Amino acid sequence: MAKNDQTQKRFSQIRKQLIKIREDIKNISTISADFRKPVTLDQQMVGRLSRIDAMQNQEMQLESERRRQIEIERVESALRRLKHGTFGNCIVCGEKIEINRIKNDPTVPTCIECAKT
Ligand SMILES: [Zn+2]
Repeated sequence: MAKNDQTQKRFSQIRKQLIKIREDIKNISTISADFRKPVTLDQQMVGRLSRIDAMQNQEMQLESERRRQIEIERVESALRRLKHGTFGNCIVCGEKIEINRIKNDPTVPTCIECAKT
């Protein structure tokens, strides 16, 4: 197999992997949507401490959702780089990103040197 074919094959696998990651995140977002709803008056009736617990829990759920949205943005950015043929290059310096770094996290946008700064 020619080197270019291998690259194409690997990119197509990475693309599938990225789409799967995005789907998984979106599914978790959908499933957990109820937990992010504002704390209702019903919960106030079970007592003040419970209400505080419920509010803290909701805050944690919102924070998880914020992280998921950031992760989805990383995935979509990686998909755009695949589409535009710039995938695998650091978005800061343009150098090739180490292959193990990409294997570890296909959404990684920078080389290890740029990640340090
Ligand atoms: Zn770099």
